[in-house]
Amino acid sequence: MFCPNCGKDLGIGARFCNNCGFNLSQGAAKGPDPDANTGELIVSVPYSYNE
Ligand SMILES: [Zn+2]
Repeated sequence: MFCPNCGKDLGIGARFCNNCGFNLSQGAAKGPDPDANTGELIVSVPYSYNE
């Protein structure tokens, strides 16, 4: 694998970059979490406008 910070080839299973010290286990971007259900802006109005 390559360091996402400096691009150095670190080999398989590296957790820290030995070149820049980047924490690979923490900094690895996995993309959006499919279980995360935040960010939806769907707002249901709990009341109706009756005039
Ligand atoms: Zn690095």
